[in-house]
Amino acid sequence: MPLRPPRLQTAAGTDTGRIRRHNEDHIGEDGHLGLLVLADGMGGHAGGEVASRMAVETMLQTLKETLPHTGGGRHDTLEALRGAVIRANRGIHEAAGRDAACAGMGTTLAVVLFRKGRVFLAHVGDSRIYRFRNDRLQRLTSDHTLVQELVDRGLCPPEQARTAAGGNLLTRALGIEPRVQVDTREERLQPGDLYLLCSDGLSDMVDDDAIEALIRQHRNTPDTLAARLIARANDCGGRDNISVMIAAEPAHRTWYHRLLSGARRRP
Ligand code: CA
Repeated sequence: MPLRPPRLQTAAGTDTGRIRRHNEDHIGEDGHLGLLVLADGMGGHAGGEVASRMAVETMLQTLKETLPHTGGGRHDTLEALRGAVIRANRGIHEAAGRDAACAGMGTTLAVVLFRKGRVFLAHVGDSRIYRFRNDRLQRLTSDHTLVQELVDRGLCPPEQARTAAGGNLLTRALGIEPRVQVDTREERLQPGDLYLLCSDGLSDMVDDDAIEALIRQHRNTPDTLAARLIARANDCGGRDNISVMIAAEPAHRTWYHRLLSGARRRP
């Protein structure tokens, strides 16, 4: 699936997992905007599914409206992103107040926007954004969870965070309060970068080293990579819904590769 900037390759998948009956994750993308959105809903009967879908749809719709009128600058783009998250939060919060079946619903949100050689990120909750660069996986987001707060305060060793009891209790989510605090960040896109968005159904089941190894193995085939990540989470128990989104920038070919392929084409 091509995504602007034109060389970017994307792949995505979402899976109910092996335990849950419903998939409350939702994913969406807009290839023209260079936008990937992932949400992991929670609460109520149908609430989780409603909240995550609303979050993704509001992000896609709002940025489709606002980005074409937004200057390409870093500040303007981040403000557009932040404004869309705030609108999504308000919409979910109001819907939860109107409909008893959706009372208390909320959702995480992870967003990556590629624009003019830069990557803009926004996130709320414990869905994560990783980057694979120079053969190394780096997590670009910090979970908004109780356990992450304990880690940050030195009260829980990082190596125990993944298995800590109550670790998934969110300290921030969309839809819960009338206002939401959004984490945003902006990076320069480099040749060979690969971005991975995921819900905790992946990161709780598969540790960062294993994710890194799978990316290294399937880096050049994002569709295969997405499928392998989901399969690994299911092999490890599949206790939650699993969603992954991948955007990969092909590495620049070196001068001798270009020379060799040129030489081969000559009669
Ligand atoms: Ca989840």
